[in-house]
Amino acid sequence: VSTLDLDHVSASPLQTLLSTTPDASKAREWSQYYTAGPHLAGKNLSQALWTKERWVEFGVENTQIVDYDVYVNYPHGHRLALLEKSRDGADWQVAYEARLEEDVLDDDATSGLADRIPTFHGYSASGNVTAPYVYVNYGTYKDFEELQAANISLAGNIALARYGGVFRGLKVKRAQELGMVGVVMYTDPGDDGEVTEYNGYAAYPDGPARQPSSVQRGSTQFLSFAPGDPTTPGYPSKPGAPRQPVDHAIPSIPSLPISYQDALPLLQALNGHGPKSSAFNKYWQGGGLGYKGVDYSIGPSPAGWALNLVNEQEYVTTPMWNVIGIINGTIPDEVVVLGNHRDAWVAGGAGDPNSGSAALNEVVRAFGLAVQAGWRPLRTIVFASWDGEEYGLIGSTEWVEEFLPWLAQSTIAYLNVDVGAVGPNLVVAAAPLLNKALIETLDLIQSPNQTTPGQTVGDVWNKQIRTMGSGSDFTAFQDFAGIPSLDVGFGPGPDSAVYHYHSNYDSFAWMQRFGDRGFHYHATVAKLWALLAAKLVETPVIPLNATDYSTALGVYVDAVKRKARAADFPLSPVLLAALDSALARLHDAATAHDSLGAVLLQRVVDDDIPWWKPWEKVKLYYDVRVVNTKYKLLERRFLHAEGLDGRPWFKHVVFAPGKWTGYSGATLPGIGEAVEERDAEAAAKWVGIVTGRVEGAAGWLEG
Ligand code: GLU
Ligand code: CA
Ligand code: ZN
Ligand code: ZN
Repeated sequence: VSTLDLDHVSASPLQTLLSTTPDASKAREWSQYYTAGPHLAGKNLSQALWTKERWVEFGVENTQIVDYDVYVNYPHGHRLALLEKSRDGADWQVAYEARLEEDVLDDDATSGLADRIPTFHGYSASGNVTAPYVYVNYGTYKDFEELQAANISLAGNIALARYGGVFRGLKVKRAQELGMVGVVMYTDPGDDGEVTEYNGYAAYPDGPARQPSSVQRGSTQFLSFAPGDPTTPGYPSKPGAPRQPVDHAIPSIPSLPISYQDALPLLQALNGHGPKSSAFNKYWQGGGLGYKGVDYSIGPSPAGWALNLVNEQEYVTTPMWNVIGIINGTIPDEVVVLGNHRDAWVAGGAGDPNSGSAALNEVVRAFGLAVQAGWRPLRTIVFASWDGEEYGLIGSTEWVEEFLPWLAQSTIAYLNVDVGAVGPNLVVAAAPLLNKALIETLDLIQSPNQTTPGQTVGDVWNKQIRTMGSGSDFTAFQDFAGIPSLDVGFGPGPDSAVYHYHSNYDSFAWMQRFGDRGFHYHATVAKLWALLAAKLVETPVIPLNATDYSTALGVYVDAVKRKARAADFPLSPVLLAALDSALARLHDAATAHDSLGAVLLQRVVDDDIPWWKPWEKVKLYYDVRVVNTKYKLLERRFLHAEGLDGRPWFKHVVFAPGKWTGYSGATLPGIGEAVEERDAEAAAKWVGIVTGRVEGAAGWLEG
């Protein structure tokens, strides 16, 4: 390796190194380490130190631990019981006591660890409530609207919601706003696709279907308000930092996650009470427990029945540890950041996040080999192992908030991998500026699936690129700092084993048996990540594509116009005409910029300026620098300092998590929300703001 000639123009020796180094058996070894014990946020210092030691050993000497003091909860106690009034009505009797525990399985070592993490919700409120309960389907904003329209009494009751559709914290937020006093969330096997016990598949560990006692833990932070430490929105949680009240950021009513086994008696007790789910619409009927005698009646639970929900949480302010490794480039102010979170809800976390963490170690090891061979990147590479993602993207958000001035000046892209591999299907979300570099990279890597010999990851991919929503560590980069970001990983396919997300069964044993048997998808996501990073740090003209951005903006504008038409909500034709003309101007500027970039790149690659014309070379490199700076700062042109209405932390006018979805992205959220709320003034304001940003971006490229 030490004789490699890794120059900046031809990245191919580097490419070879990066695409041959990541190794399935090494990934398996890292996975085994990370999944061997509890690593809840703020309780994983040993894993942070271990990660730092590995990265230094791999050749990234500049690796540090960066810590924050974060406000979080740890579980202390819980209870959920179905109660029935005694005959004389004097006191309650327990009809069903929920177990609130996942089964210990002989075939799965971490499912039985003595210090395994109880089932609970991050940032949930303590409380002890006894109340009737109502089945609220997924508990989306729309689901609650339909319940209200049907005059189902919600206030004073507990919501029984199934997981899915939207981010769990937003279910609690809406329930709370409607005066409900608690939320119970269960995982319905009807949302597991075809691979269910009902369809004849055995449950884990004997087969690929869901283990009936499995519970999805997870955060109930009100994600769409702001991620990060809820006491420090917009600035880092350094020791001594001032702290804000949290009421608008996290729930004030208690919630508990449960298994479908524990949900069954609760659902059965509702049978025949209130309308059936099927009375609402097709979408409400998807529940998968019909064969267990559940008719999905809404309730409320009849007189004389109630749920007792007890949630005891201890809130503390405690350190969390990011591991940050840096390989300095020769251009000091052009930076690419790669990140994955290290904290997990459960002992295992083999899929979430440790398939990504194992891959990141392979990426660092591969780049470390290049560094040891004497290579220096053109641009700086930063590797990040985040803590606290699960509670609310904390490690990444606090870090971005702390280093915002530097990141804003220097960063060209953020590349996130969260769940790296739990199946064979590549899932991609990306800022449009990165589409082209990503697609080109997918074609460089052989797929582990070689049913057609020679096929690449790109060949077997469904060709879908999602817009950036939220739910992982790219959020602060994309939506707060305006840094083009992407998120990739291999998810389950339609006939894959059910992924036991945030459950004790997201374990090494599950991964080895069902998720990624040979760890080949772990190695593949590492190759993809490394090669994409190499392309971004080594290509002399930054390989972002402005035309793709302007094209995407056209699509988003069309979509919001359609939305307004469908809602019969008039957007001002004069303002829309101004927006259209701004888009046309941006499109011209973007194509011109990309063409200039391509010409300059070709000249650098050809390297045919004769030695006796050094001034031509100086001019060429000056021109490259100008083009690169425009690429680097283009996404930042779409930030709006005041942020979105009602959620000022979100600064991007093109991308935000949907206000009531969380995970899935909203495009042009300012305009879209104004349309939804039928607010003509806000709509006009936001069309104006977006037009201003688009004009600004065009001017930036033209200038
Ligand atoms: N990825 C985690 C989840 O989906 C955290 C999301 C968040 O709090 O933004 O639960
Ligand atoms: Ca903060
Ligand atoms: Zn994750
Ligand atoms: Zn997670």
